[in-house]
Amino acid sequence: MQPLRQTFLRYNAQTSDTPLLLEFSRAEGVFLYDSQGKQYLDLISGIGVSNVGHGHPRVVAAVREQAGRFMHLMVYGEFVQAPQVRYAEKLAGLLPEKLSCVYFTNSGAESVEGALKLAKRSTGRNEIIACRNSYHGSTQGALSVMGNEEYKQAYRPLLPGIQFIRFNRHKDLSLIRPETACVILETIQGEAGIRVPEKEYLKALRARCHETGTLLILDEIQTGMGRTGSLFAFEQYGIEPDILLTAKALGGGMPLGAFIASPAIMQHLSYDPPLGHITTFGGHPVCCAAGLAALEVLLEEDLAAKANEKGGLFRKLLQHPAIREFRGAGLLMALEFESFEQNKAVIDRCIEKGVITDWFLHDSRSMRLAPPLTIREEQIRDACSVILESIEEVIN
Ligand code: PLP
Repeated sequence: MQPLRQTFLRYNAQTSDTPLLLEFSRAEGVFLYDSQGKQYLDLISGIGVSNVGHGHPRVVAAVREQAGRFMHLMVYGEFVQAPQVRYAEKLAGLLPEKLSCVYFTNSGAESVEGALKLAKRSTGRNEIIACRNSYHGSTQGALSVMGNEEYKQAYRPLLPGIQFIRFNRHKDLSLIRPETACVILETIQGEAGIRVPEKEYLKALRARCHETGTLLILDEIQTGMGRTGSLFAFEQYGIEPDILLTAKALGGGMPLGAFIASPAIMQHLSYDPPLGHITTFGGHPVCCAAGLAALEVLLEEDLAAKANEKGGLFRKLLQHPAIREFRGAGLLMALEFESFEQNKAVIDRCIEKGVITDWFLHDSRSMRLAPPLTIREEQIRDACSVILESIEEVIN
């Protein structure tokens, strides 16, 4: 038999010519283990997914239990499936009152697609405003609102009627007009390299959307489920979206997304025409059971509040002249170097030393730090020592 790596390259579709090609046979907590038993500390959580760590026993038990009862029964929205109902009820209880109607999807991109359709349908408008340097997923609607031409130009024509504003720039808010159906924005920009907005900016954006009858869609697919110090980042800004997007950590390691709105807004998908959004696997019962178990762990262990303290420790420890900037909120952090080459060299050295990090789609000079929220103090200290040693070894 060929080594698995070669078979992967031959038979599995590739997304770039430089895949990481690491091969793992097991994962537990904050660690991944390769086939030789080498341990790696995970500082990226499968890109913001494994917030309660890998293979959490409560999540695994919920998956086993639900798989034993039933898996797929019917397309989303027809049958009353307990895991979907329980999870929607739990989320609604933790969110502002108006965000009480949950549409479960398969992924982040599907949540974006559903939300853009919902905004058009419920406002009767078709203009959309998105942000420069945003990332909302890779399907055609999500790509249309991505603020980076490099990844879009080969796929045009995309959705018409989209305008881009600059993140955190008050001046651009005047582009939001009574004709604008929605503004879609990451509360904290992720793939732009962790860009945290000013509180006053988000408040002004919220006010402008109210003035113009425009729906505010906040994409918390990467920032959600406790990562930035609260269940969702918007809670720290004194604003509420009209439509909230979540995915990634929502499923506790299983594929699950959701767009969440008021019943008054959400009802538009159910008439004229009905079946305004259809999904076969959206809200898969096993994924909902896993997600609910993960959320219970997150709440019981107060992981969101602890994310702030832990992020603070990373910030304190990661001091080096080669680090140009440290940006972050909770355990969603970026370390900026002078160039992609420097960043890549540090990342490669960290991986050799058993610490997994990465860069950002729209910010290749910055290193991504987003470990499971369950990471412990001594593991943070170890990770930071490896990063600093790697910097010393590869940057001179
Ligand atoms: N929105 C944000 C902010 C994201 O970071 C991502 C994925 O990285 C998405 C949407 C798309 O999610 P998915 O890959 O599940 O489609």
